[in-house]
Formats: sequence, C-alpha cells, structure tokens
Amino acid sequence: MSSDILEVLIIGGGLSGLSAGNYLFDHHIDNFLILEARDRVGGRTCTIDYQGHPVDVGGAYVGPFQNRILRLAREFNIRTYRIYNKGKNVLTLSNGYRSVYSGTIPTSIGVFSLLDLNYLLCRTQELCEQISNLTPWSNENLSLKYDQMTVEDWLQTLAETDEAKQIYRAAARAVLCVEPNEVSMFAWLSYVNNGLGIMRLCEIENGAQERKFSGGSQQISNRLREKLGDNHVLLDHVVKHVEWSSTENLIKVTCDNNKIFSCRHLIIALAPSLYKTIQFEPELPPKKREATERMYMGSIIKTITVFERPFWKENGFSGIILDTSKVSNPVIFSYDDTSDEHQFYAIMGFILADSSRQWAKKTRDERRQAVCEQYAQAFQCNEMLTGCRDYIEQNWSAEQFSGGCYTDIMPKEVFSSLREQLWTSCGNNGQLIFAGTELATRFSGYMDGAVQAGERAAFEVITKYLKKNDENLSLKWIDEEPVDDREECRSSNINQLMYGPSKIEMLLPKASIVKLILKIASIGLVGCIAMMIKSRFF
Ligand SMILES: Cc1cc2nc3c(=O)[nH]c(=O)nc-3n(C[C@H](O)[C@H](O)[C@H](O)COP(=O)(O)OP(=O)(O)OC[C@H]3O[C@@H](n4cnc5c(N)ncnc54)[C@H](O)[C@@H]3O)c2cc1C
Repeated sequence: MSSDILEVLIIGGGLSGLSAGNYLFDHHIDNFLILEARDRVGGRTCTIDYQGHPVDVGGAYVGPFQNRILRLAREFNIRTYRIYNKGKNVLTLSNGYRSVYSGTIPTSIGVFSLLDLNYLLCRTQELCEQISNLTPWSNENLSLKYDQMTVEDWLQTLAETDEAKQIYRAAARAVLCVEPNEVSMFAWLSYVNNGLGIMRLCEIENGAQERKFSGGSQQISNRLREKLGDNHVLLDHVVKHVEWSSTENLIKVTCDNNKIFSCRHLIIALAPSLYKTIQFEPELPPKKREATERMYMGSIIKTITVFERPFWKENGFSGIILDTSKVSNPVIFSYDDTSDEHQFYAIMGFILADSSRQWAKKTRDERRQAVCEQYAQAFQCNEMLTGCRDYIEQNWSAEQFSGGCYTDIMPKEVFSSLREQLWTSCGNNGQLIFAGTELATRFSGYMDGAVQAGERAAFEVITKYLKKNDENLSLKWIDEEPVDDREECRSSNINQLMYGPSKIEMLLPKASIVKLILKIASIGLVGCIAMMIKSRFF
C-alpha cells in the first residue's frame, strides 16, 4: 500500500466487501484494504471439502438475471450446473397428509385450495409490481398500509383455505427463514419485487434455484481474494471500534487485536443487524441505529444428508419435499444434492425459522435421525434410514459473524420508518458508505445482491470522491446488469424480467367465487329440474 492513510477501508470479506475491493482494483485504485473477522473469506457462503467433493453449507443456488455473480464466476472459469428436479415431489401437510406432485405448485391439494393458493400468489405478484426496487419507500400508500401488518396478518385476511395458508407459510419460511408472523408484509413484497417476482424466487427452472456452481460458491470469494492479493485482504481482523467525524476526512478503525487503521473512506459491507457489534464514535445516525436494533437474521440449519445410493431417484422421486408441519418434522424443503461424478448421493434439506430454533436445542445425532426418518417417510423408502452414510450440517444462527441467515429481515413498521436513511451514506460528505446484500436494489438477500451492493459502494467512492474532478472519467452505474452473450444461465423467456404467475393463472377466480357460482348453478339446476318435473306431471 502506498501510504499509511488508506484511501478506502472495507469492513467484511464476504462477497459484498470483496466485490467492492474488486471494483476498486479493476478501476486502478490500489490504496485499499479489506478487514475480515473470520479466518476465511466468503462470509455467508462456505464450501467444505467432503472426501474430495465440494459441499456448500451456505449460499449455493443461482439463477437467471443474477448477472453480477454469474459474471464473476465466468471471470474465474467457474461453471454452473442445473439442479436435478425430475420425478415426483412430495408435499406433507401439518396433519401428516402426504401427496405427490410435479412442478413448483403442489397440485395434489384440493381444487379450492389450489385456487386459493393461486389467488394468494397472484395477489402477491400484483402488489409487488407496484413497488420500485430503487426507491421502495416511494409508494407511500402501499408502504403505510402493508408495513403495518405481518405476512401472517395478510394471510388471515385473504386466505380461504387452510391448505393454501400452510403452503404459502412454508414458501415464506423457505425464502426468508422466519415465520410469516415475524415479517412485515411490505418488506416481503419489496423482497419479492427486488428478486424479480414470486415465481422467480420459488422456481428451480428460470428461478433463483436453477443452478449451483461447480466446485462450490465460496470459490468465487477465494478467487477474488487471490486476485486482490494478501496485501489487500487481512483475515482474522475483527473490527471493534470506528472513530469517524461529520466534519473531518479521517476515519480511525480499531480491531480486536489492537491494530489501528486510518482511512479516508470506509465501506461497511455487513448486514445492518451486525452494525451494533462495532462501537461507533460518534454513534451512527438514529435510523441506522434503529435498523441495527430492529432488523435481525433469519434462522437456518442447512443439512446435507449423504446416502449409499440415490434411493429417491431409484424410486422416481426428485428429492424435493415441501413440508408445512412447521416443527414436528425438521426439514421444510429439500433438493437433490447429488454429484454423479464424485459418487456423492445426497439431499440438501433446510431446517428453517421456528423449526430451526426448536431443532437447534437437540443434539446433532437427534437431528440426523429425525431428518432420515422424515426422508424415509416422504419417499416411502426405508433405505433412507438404513442406507444413510453421513450427515453434514451448519447452524448459521451459531455463527458469530453472521448471526443467522440468509438475510436480515424487517418486522412490521421498520421499513416505512427507516425509509431511505438505511441506504444513505454518512460522515463528512458521506464517507461512511454501506454495502452488503441487504442494501442491494436487485436480488437483495442473495449472492448476486451482495456483489451489486459492493460494486455500487465502490462506484460511489470513485465517482463522488476519488475521481470526482477527473474529466475523462466515463464510469456509469448500471443497476440492472444485462445478460452476457456467453452466459449459459439465462431465462427461457429472455425479455421477461419479472416472473410471476402466468396470464391465465392471473385470470382464475377466487375459490369463494367458484363456490358461489357452483352454488347458484346447482340451485338453478335444481329449479330447472323441479320445473321440468312440474310441467311433465301436473
Ligand atoms: C444457508 C444459506 C443458504 C443461502 N442460500 C443462498 C442461495 O441459494 N443463493 C443465494 O444467492 N444466496 C444464498 N444465501 C445468501 C448469501 O449467501 C448471502 O446473501 C451473501 O453471501 C451475503 O454476502 P455479504 O457479503 O453481503 O455478507 P456476508 O457474507 O455476511 O459478509 C460479511 C462479512 O463480514 C465479516 N464480518 C462480520 N463482522 C465483522 C467485523 N466486526 N469485522 C470484520 N469483518 C466482519 C463476516 O465474517 C463476513 O465475512 C444463503 C445463505 C445461507 C447462510
């Protein structure tokens, strides 16, 4: 580094902090440093080596339009592969009723429940499309109305069948890792909008779960670290104290190993709920403090259960289960996680929200037994119990430098109160800049969002401060990175960014309307028959 005072210091060596550093590096700014608390980079992505096979125990899935993370993967020659989803999926409802279905929507439920579920999904899509991903707070009517209720409140007012409620709740748990009564309806709608639609978030094909990275997702962070070099990334540096000023240009950052760094610009690439783990002097502005106090991470134990053979595939199942029972079975949903190349036959299962909190109190062996029993029952295959070879798990709530996963959530009345102040820089001329996936305007909560927020923070530093007087600077910010011609992960409908229910599904009536029509029709039919009988015999 060229001087004792750093031009840019970045807190956090997750994808967001590394992407900020990478953006500076690619734009020929060398005087920066990333401080990472853990002894590894990658944060909420983590790939472990299991007998020579890479296993993602953190963020893993990627899909079309996540063009920033896909661009980084391409830069490092990391390929993607599709998730296996052929065969039957299994739905288990809270009363133990088990049924099989194919596709994303469990069509094995009754017709009225299906119409009800369709209505809830369509309504979610319609509402989320009224929000701007750039300035979600700008639709005041919507934000005021829906930020005062939780997703559960909304469901209670709108849903007509218990089955539809159960499935919608399970979907919300799967996307957010919290119970629907913990999260603001407006925050949920904004999240769905930010992630390009309810089907984009829930689907495998064309959705956010379409693929994984060959060799694991943490590779991207490891390769970024290699590219930037050890002089730009320091591991095992837990930032404890930040002394900043609203009038001066110098910021002093102290780590728990007593190392002190001085910088002119500070990028904080952490989830807002982690700001409170750092002592700021003076304190952060009130809205940032409110954010760090009121936002919190979801709860998740990611499990990968390894089997002697892919028993589920041999019996015609995809490996996908959706379980609405909340806590009696640990896994809320699962995917096949097999790699034929490594003869690694596994199912990835998410233990989420209340289920995660309850099952975290049990031992690892108890969880392993319960997960295998659940799979044996779901796939009607006793070999899932007897042929279990190993069990890998990661409880993200126990991770000090994450505090949970996948992302920070907002309970009700937080979003409308924080408005844009959560996203705003502070300090003298805004020299404290905030990144991290939570602040992304596209795919917030996802790896792609982490990259976007990091790059945007670095862009801001360059254009507003470092090169603001450079007349030749032609740097432009593109919020929505276009699909690269070489990219194999692309939506089958390339022009359609938002992906919600189809036009036909949008036209389908509510369950209660169909019931009413049937009632009127049956009354009419009975009337006709009565009249025919009357005219025939009297
Ligand atoms: C189980 C699980 C499944 C997921 N599934 C997916 C998925 O399928 N697809 C997807 O796109 N995303 C998924 N995600 C989310 C995705 O991993 C995250 O959105 C993304 O990695 C966040 O990156 P980030 O850089 O914003 O934050 P982080 O990765 O949290 O990075 C922040 C970094 O800051 C460090 N840090 C914290 N405190 C300090 C401090 N005081 N001083 C210095 N450093 C500090 C942390 O160690 C961390 O490395 C998943 C996450 C989990 C855990």
